[in-house]
Amino acid sequence: MPVPSTLSLYDTATRSVREFTPITPGQVGIYLCGATVQAPPHVGHIRSGVAFDVLLRWLTGQGMDVTFIRNVTDIDDKIIHNAGHEDVPYWVVAMRNERAFNRAYDALGCLPPTYEPRATGHIPEMIAMMQQLIASGFGYAVAGDVYFDVRAFDGYGKLSGQRIDDMLASPDSQAQIKRDARDFAMWKSAKPGEPHWHTPWGPGRPGWHIECSAMAEKYLGPQFDIHGGGLDLIFPHHENEIAQSKAAGNPFANYWVHNAWVTTAGEKMSKSLGNSLLVDEVIKRVRPIELRYYLVGAHYRSMLEYSDESVNEAGQGFRRIEGFLQRGHEFLGTDPQLLTPNPSSRPEAFDAAMNDDLAVPQAFAVLHETVRGGNAALTAKDTGLVTEALSATVAMLDILGLNPWSKSWAQVGRADTDSVIDALVQVALEQRQEARARKDFAASDAIRDGLDAIGIRIEDTPEGARWTLEQ
Ligand SMILES: [Zn+2]
Repeated sequence: MPVPSTLSLYDTATRSVREFTPITPGQVGIYLCGATVQAPPHVGHIRSGVAFDVLLRWLTGQGMDVTFIRNVTDIDDKIIHNAGHEDVPYWVVAMRNERAFNRAYDALGCLPPTYEPRATGHIPEMIAMMQQLIASGFGYAVAGDVYFDVRAFDGYGKLSGQRIDDMLASPDSQAQIKRDARDFAMWKSAKPGEPHWHTPWGPGRPGWHIECSAMAEKYLGPQFDIHGGGLDLIFPHHENEIAQSKAAGNPFANYWVHNAWVTTAGEKMSKSLGNSLLVDEVIKRVRPIELRYYLVGAHYRSMLEYSDESVNEAGQGFRRIEGFLQRGHEFLGTDPQLLTPNPSSRPEAFDAAMNDDLAVPQAFAVLHETVRGGNAALTAKDTGLVTEALSATVAMLDILGLNPWSKSWAQVGRADTDSVIDALVQVALEQRQEARARKDFAASDAIRDGLDAIGIRIEDTPEGARWTLEQ
């Protein structure tokens, strides 16, 4: 039996925190606007994937059966432009970058979506929707383009809180052929040599917004629970999705959830900053799990100012948690029960924070309080309290996708190599201990310095020497 959800979410459409009630009890449909695969992702691109992964894990953790759709926009102006520069077909650029996005999602521990539809695989659905919109007076075709008549749809501008007359002209089209400058293109006619698909209005390609309206309906039906994306998508993209889908008779999304940007020097992160912020590059400098810890740690609706230093600073907090897991595990000996997260061992305060519009900063506070208590219990050698704290910590980390013992992190290589490194370091530490026992301090210092040179720091504690790997 699924546990009833008491989650509340900030809904952009009503500008209020609303209790989340799924359309069908126990089931949740989520549509997240995914990548436009024109370039590999930087940290800013991936925040949305990570933020919605926490929502997915929280809902799933409460027994919900979640259908999570995250699309791929594999055709657009910039993809065509970049492919032209390289003198390759558009799909070479799109597929290469789609792989880069998936690599980044995997590296940051994001669970795969239920399905990941590509725009170019759904042209018939888009044509059918446009035909319907033209027939009902919401759309019109001119010179091979198909436009949405924004004045025909009552409520255009509601999501973004704008009046039509205050809006700027939609830039994606030729103003002189439209009924109103704000009318947006659902379909664009192909220029000579451009990739195109055949339609009743001539050869052309999708104009982004229609993709999501068509794919959301195909996979989640005319009405579904949550539509997500970055704040920058509210206008025009989501406003236009709503206009198309509602005009086509679909009630569409019940909740609109938007994550904030990652900024650098106060500006929205953009690829003009160069390659150093690409996820592939960043994870050579910082541990992926620490990057996730940093991204997850800010509330998803708060702007996040990125720097490697701030990730490393946040990483210290994560390493404190890891240190407790390691020491707690050693203290208790192997107990596989503890490695399997047990939801019932999560503190109530943690669940309350997560239910309060996914308040991860407050959830982190509960996590760190638990770790402090666990460390005190270790000092007091209180097996019962250590067990409790360890179990609670693992269960909380699991919800946040930060359990270093989980399969997803083991698959990216960390946990497996850790156990090998640990065995090797233990051999060195035993030799060091023997050297000290025979008062051969030159030898014991040489072992310590040798480990230090490769970044392994030794700390002598009452329980014996322990090691940590410096970044
Ligand atoms: Zn979209």
